[in-house]
Order: sequence, then structure tokens, then C-alpha cells
Amino acid sequence: MSVHADPPPALVPEPNGVQYATGDQLGKGGFAICHRAERLDGDRPTGHVVALKIVRTKMEPAKLAQKFITELQIHSKLHHSNIVEFFRAFSFESSTYVVLELCDNGSLADMLKKRKYLTMPEIRRFVIQICGAVKYLHYRNIVHRDLKTGNLFLDKDMNIKVGDFGLAALLVSQNDMMGKRRTTMCGTPNYLAPEILEKGKGHNEKVDLWAIGVISYTLAVGKAPFHASSKEEIYKKLKSRCYTWPELNSTTNNISSDLRDLVSSLLVHEEERPSPDQIVSHPFFKIAFVPTQLSAARRGYSDTWY
Ligand code: ADP
Repeated sequence: MSVHADPPPALVPEPNGVQYATGDQLGKGGFAICHRAERLDGDRPTGHVVALKIVRTKMEPAKLAQKFITELQIHSKLHHSNIVEFFRAFSFESSTYVVLELCDNGSLADMLKKRKYLTMPEIRRFVIQICGAVKYLHYRNIVHRDLKTGNLFLDKDMNIKVGDFGLAALLVSQNDMMGKRRTTMCGTPNYLAPEILEKGKGHNEKVDLWAIGVISYTLAVGKAPFHASSKEEIYKKLKSRCYTWPELNSTTNNISSDLRDLVSSLLVHEEERPSPDQIVSHPFFKIAFVPTQLSAARRGYSDTWY
């Protein structure tokens, strides 16, 4: 499936008189194309720059509608410093527009592509922020189900912003998640929790904790732990939970034994995975400092992070 990529109109009007002046393309996903845009009050610039996600309603209607409705219903109710803020959604001509908080520094996947792997202090800071967002979601009975480096965006101050709620599921019980399970198979092969592959078993919020383990490994090593050339091979490795760490040598990252221990505590049977609070209490986060600020050097992702 490819996204229809005609340039968007220079001015996109909301039904209430507010309009958006569209700018550069920020990126393209399977369902949407995203542009930088400035909110105008009538014709006056407001200085409020946003990410305008454009979904052509012509594409694959059934699939799109399902993804989009959950995305809108769930995402619009979330407010957290490490979750991309959803401002509004509206239709104009044959497209639907979603106005989102701008994440100026791309995604963790973009950062990894440039840098190959991240340092331990960077990983500490990012994982703490991801855990904050996941704790917030799980407390509200929401499972993201597609946590991966490509859905973890970075704002201008290099703070994590969890985005793309297209696969998020609301577990129905209001106050108690225990026992609630979803049965739809979804997610990205490298980040899938093994229980999602077990037919008829269903899965719950624990799949996000598995994904945090995969993300932590990927940030340190530069590729996913269950990496393989075909989906079938990935699934085989996943089912056996079999992964290895690269040999220590001058070309690989200096991966701390605490990080290895943290990852091994997460890539386990669902019942044994630590909660977000337990994750951030792990010694990996205790023995060294966590940078409170990271410098991005605007998409160059300089090696200096403080
Ligand atoms: P899809 O729902 O089709 O997967 P995404 O949500 O992944 O679409 O968005 C497509 C691309 O647009 C992303 O990979 C990213 O490059 C860019 N993007 C999405 N949301 C934002 C945002 N809030 N700020 C900056 N860029 C974004």
C-alpha cells in the first residue's frame, strides 16, 4: 500500500475559520503523510507550528476507517508530556486532517539510522520517558500495541513523544485490567510479544512491556533482538525467546551489564514482566546519572548529549 503523495493545499481551512499554512513534508507512513503547518487566525500567523497528518479518505476505506477511528477516539483523550498531543481532526475536500503536536526531531528510528546505536545515558533517559507514557496509558486501560522506535517521536528538546495510536486498544473494564485480553494479531514483527503469536490466547497490556525490552535492546545494539530476514524466522526466534548480544569489540557499543539484565527481565513470559514503575527502579537507572537534557543539533543527533 502506498500513500497518495500529491502536495497538500497551501492553505487548509478548518470549518471554524482557522486555517493552516502547510510547509515541508515531515514524513510518510503506511496510511498518512505528515507536513509541518502553521496555524493562522484568519489570515494572521499565530506562530503556532504543528504537525498536520493528512489521510486521504480514498485509500482502503475499511482498514483506514478502523485504524483511524480508534486512533482518534483514543488519542484525543490523552494528555501526557511524553505522548504526542492531539489537537483536533477535521475533513477538507477528500482528505482527513489530524492536527498534532510537532515533533521536530523525527523518531528514535531516524536517530538510530544516523547514529547506529545510542549511549547508555541516552537510553536511560529515553526508557524512563517511555515508561512514564506507558504507565499513564495502562492506568487508563489503554494498550498501545505498536511501540517501536518508529513510533517514538522526539520534540525540539529531545523528549520522547509516543505517537501513532492506530493499533491502540481500550481494554473494557474501567478500573481493572487484569484478565482482559484482546485477540487481534497486530503490531510489527520485530516487536511482537510471543503471546500474540499463540492462536486464540489473546494478549493484554504486557505486550507493551515486552516492546520496551525490544526497544531497549535495539537502542543499544542498533538492530532488534529477534532480527531475521523473513517474518517466519523472526516468529521462530520469538517463540523460543532466543536472542544474543553482540561480542564486545571496538566497533560495538559499550553495553552495560545492567542494561543486559534489564532487557532479560523484560523479554520473559508475560506474567514475569516488570511494570513501568518496577522497570525504572532497576539498577540500570540507579548507578549512573540520567541526563535531564539532550542536545539534538537539529536532526544531526550530535554525539554530545548534555
Ligand atoms: P501512519 O499512521 O501512516 O503510520 P505515522 O503516524 O507514522 O503514519 O506518520 C507518518 C510519518 O510522519 C512519521 O513516520 C513521521 O516521520 C511523521 N510524523 C508523524 N507524526 C509526527 C509529528 N507529530 N511530528 C513530526 N513528524 C511526525
